[in-house]
Amino acid sequence: MNKQWILARVPPEGMPQAEDFELIDSPLPSVAPNQMLTRTIYLSLDPYQWGRRRRGEELPRDICHGRTVSQVMQSRLAGYAEGDYIFNTNGWQEYGLTGAGISNFGYMHPRKLDPDCYPISTALGVMGMLGLTAYAGLLIQCNPQPGETVVVAAASGGVGQIVCQLAKLAGCRVVGIVGNQSKMGFVLNDIGIDACVSHLSDNFQEELKAQCPDGCDVYFENVGGKVFEAILPLLNHASRISLCGLVSQYGNSHDRDPRSVWKEIGSETFAKKGIIQKDLFVGDFVEKYQDEFFTLMGNYVRSGEVFYKEDKWEGLEKAPEAFISMLVGRNFGKTMVSVSQDTSM
Ligand code: NDP
Repeated sequence: MNKQWILARVPPEGMPQAEDFELIDSPLPSVAPNQMLTRTIYLSLDPYQWGRRRRGEELPRDICHGRTVSQVMQSRLAGYAEGDYIFNTNGWQEYGLTGAGISNFGYMHPRKLDPDCYPISTALGVMGMLGLTAYAGLLIQCNPQPGETVVVAAASGGVGQIVCQLAKLAGCRVVGIVGNQSKMGFVLNDIGIDACVSHLSDNFQEELKAQCPDGCDVYFENVGGKVFEAILPLLNHASRISLCGLVSQYGNSHDRDPRSVWKEIGSETFAKKGIIQKDLFVGDFVEKYQDEFFTLMGNYVRSGEVFYKEDKWEGLEKAPEAFISMLVGRNFGKTMVSVSQDTSM
């Protein structure tokens, strides 16, 4: 049998709740020509999955979408053999089909993984979409220069921790924004950024200002809301912003698109100071930049210059709890679920 999490209902307003999901058992699917059956090893949990559900791109009774690292159990697809490890899109289930006639949703197609190069779980984080997001938003869109101040929202998270490290490697002064003290200790001591403030502090705005004595030249936006409002007065003339995500707004009502609201709040400052603001969608960078990203990040990860922290939850049953926790900041690093044994190690 195959355990699957399906969407139980059209999500109401606000953040996800346990009642949005239902765990069911289904028979294992049979494998048609040009398909393969894979066993999910790691399931990635990402904020965008909530957006899909809220926008109705996923409907009640659909298997919840999610990118995965899997092992091939049975293959009728040329180029893939039993035992291969792959990056694919099984969704929130123990086993899934990949290949002809199966929608893989995403812009990153099934990709073979070599466990001798990197731990296979990194395909969901630093060596996958999150790493490319950090690379594209910071290095390509914002072009940080040595000595500049880079401020990173959600600095300990999956994307944020990589942005912080790339900015340090570019010679910048890096200021992180996080929630709690342990995340602050991690970004300061383990990642080695220059300063960090908590958005939960009563004096958040003043503390952020104090840590940016020369203002902010590059802002990597993951959060929005009061974090964005605090950074606005600190933005320097001709500073650059990558609008990556607005996780604090994902529970808002659908009356207004959070990105439009964000731009409206910033528009006067952007115009007055000649600020360059770029929207980020990682899918736009795959074709042109994927190869150079893999080379650069692969070297950094192998040499230990880029370090990554994963937040692994044990067992598919935990997927909704882990997902909800991640959206409200109770995760610590790249969030994923260990669905079955990682035999590559
Ligand atoms: P994270 O691992 O960063 O998890 C989300 C983090 O957001 C939490 O850990 C929490 O950190 C912070 N957070 C949650 N709620 C709030 C709040 N109300 N105020 C302030 N901080 C909050 O997730 P990811 O790395 O997966 O994603 C980070 C961002 O990148 C998201 O906005 C996501 O949508 C975006 N993204 C965009 C892509 C693109 O193509 N544009 C691609 C991939 C991701 P803390 O406890 O420190 O506050």
